[in-house]
Formats: sequence, C-alpha cells, structure tokens
Amino acid sequence: MPAPCWAGPCGCGGQVVYHWQQFRDARRMIRATCERCGRFCGYAPQRSPYVALADKVASPTATIDALLLAEDEHVELRSDGHAVWCWPWGKASERLEQLVREKAHLLAGLIGDTGGQPV
Ligand SMILES: [Zn+2]
Repeated sequence: MPAPCWAGPCGCGGQVVYHWQQFRDARRMIRATCERCGRFCGYAPQRSPYVALADKVASPTATIDALLLAEDEHVELRSDGHAVWCWPWGKASERLEQLVREKAHLLAGLIGDTGGQPV
C-alpha cells in the first residue's frame, strides 16, 4: 500500500512539511505541504510525529508577526470576525499566508469584522 500523500515525500520528490492551520470555528488541523513545490498534501492526523513537527515550526508570536509582516508587505488583513484572509489575493508572501493560516480565528477576533467576504 502506498504511503498517504501527507506522509510524504511529494510526487516531485520534495519533503513534506507540517503546519498548524486554524479554521473559522477555531478548530486546528495539521496542514501538510510540499516544501519544494508548495503543493497541498492534505491534513495529517493529530498524532506523533505530526503534532511535534507542526509544533516545532509554529510561531509563539504568530498573531503579532502576521500584523507586522502584513504592514511590511502592504497587504491588508481582512476579516469577517471568524476568519482572516490577505488582500489583495496572491500578494502576501508564503510566510505571511502561513502565519495567517496558523492563527486565522484568533486574528479574526483581534481584527474584528472589516467587511467583505472571504476569498
Ligand atoms: Zn512537491
């Protein structure tokens, strides 16, 4: 039986990396992506070793980092009060996108409803 996609490596031969992703209902999942090609490889189960791998690269200051980086990149963080997204679409760096994904619900609570619809 072939290894599931999230268990890596990616079809391109790149290593799969794991990051926490927070959803609009505050639930967290472990997002698996290819380090080389950036492909989304699905969600890994919340057990060893994936939890530890995601914890290792998580930022303890993700919310403030996201706010500062957005300012640097001239990207707007928009929110409907439950989730946050970067605007304009495609302008944010991968690092900023990751920080926002990591704490989307928490950031939404901080920013509040800025109007507009999620993209
Ligand atoms: Zn790949």
